[in-house]
Amino acid sequence: MSDISSLVTSLIRPEIKELVAYQVQPADGMIKLDAMENPYVWDEGLQAKWLERAKQVDFNRYPDPAATKLRAKLKQHLNLPAEQEILFGNGSDELIQLIMLATARSGCKVFSIAPTFVMYAMTAKFVGVDYVEASLKPDFSLDLPATLTAIEAEQPAVIFIAYPNNPTGNAFAREEIEAIIQAAPGLVVVDEAYNAFAEDSFLPDVEKYNNLLVMRTFSKVGLAGFRLGFLVANSAWIAEFDKVRMPYNINVFTQEGVLFALENYQVLEKQAEQIKQDRELLIKELTQFSQIETIFKTAANFITIKLQPDLVARVFAGLKQDKILIKNLDSAGGLLKDCLRITVGSPAENQAFLASFAKYIK
Ligand SMILES: *Cc1c(COP(=O)(O)O)cnc(C)c1O
Repeated sequence: MSDISSLVTSLIRPEIKELVAYQVQPADGMIKLDAMENPYVWDEGLQAKWLERAKQVDFNRYPDPAATKLRAKLKQHLNLPAEQEILFGNGSDELIQLIMLATARSGCKVFSIAPTFVMYAMTAKFVGVDYVEASLKPDFSLDLPATLTAIEAEQPAVIFIAYPNNPTGNAFAREEIEAIIQAAPGLVVVDEAYNAFAEDSFLPDVEKYNNLLVMRTFSKVGLAGFRLGFLVANSAWIAEFDKVRMPYNINVFTQEGVLFALENYQVLEKQAEQIKQDRELLIKELTQFSQIETIFKTAANFITIKLQPDLVARVFAGLKQDKILIKNLDSAGGLLKDCLRITVGSPAENQAFLASFAKYIK
């Protein structure tokens, strides 16, 4: 028998072997402003009610593979037309994978813009489809002519557009996304992970465009630990994607917990409203720093900024030393050079960030 490393090399696909696994920064004891989580928990009363509900969950049994109760509640919550269906994923990350698994055939391509959410490119690699991208403009708006030309040349089976986009924060112009949907030879997935903080949605457009899928998640609105994402589309699409889904992908606590959260959704909505207000305050505070070259437009629960050259490493490290974790986007290079991404936290967390930032930007 060969030694383990040559065995590993001979069996693992080379494109997987050369990958670096998704990096999550250690955050123990830190103010966590790196991952777009909601800083708020439920008050004691609601927490107690949830624990009562959790007691009744039969965790000795497999979950309902169709998540029937949760599905009915969410359809009602979204006011979905009868011909549309929902596909649940263990986070929208899983939905990205299911969409690619169901569509990947040899030679087919997945397309997005750059910079954007890294899981599109990573998942394409896992699944073995080619990934192509069109660059955004330096202000992170779409370069529509170049994007349409690339779509025409590449003929992608699936296009992913995050709306608002991560890690840039901005929502692209609606007319430009519509132009992409109309020009696309295949599916367009509008990823609305940040919908709770945004002013617009493509959900009503699913009726209008046969090739449009809208994806959302409960992660950014306050339930990241539950891991629940969902895809809305005409049931003709959902029926096919559902075939590649593992039957029990949504566990019993997630089904019950998100159902409970939907019954009390005004709590999450209020928290999102608070975060939006605090986002504007934080932006206002950031405008006083002349060392920030650009504060990019945002419709999400985070703010991306570009510093003047040669500051980013020092500022990021200083914040970290003060136990404040944000996202350093600089290492991605290109348009993200000198950029930092700050998740909007609670008012106290935002103040702690600002105080520390002021210290190290000087
Ligand atoms: C965070 C994020 C997701 C992933 O959401 P999960 O449901 O937690 O897997 C998807 N898309 C975008 C654009 C995101 O920023």
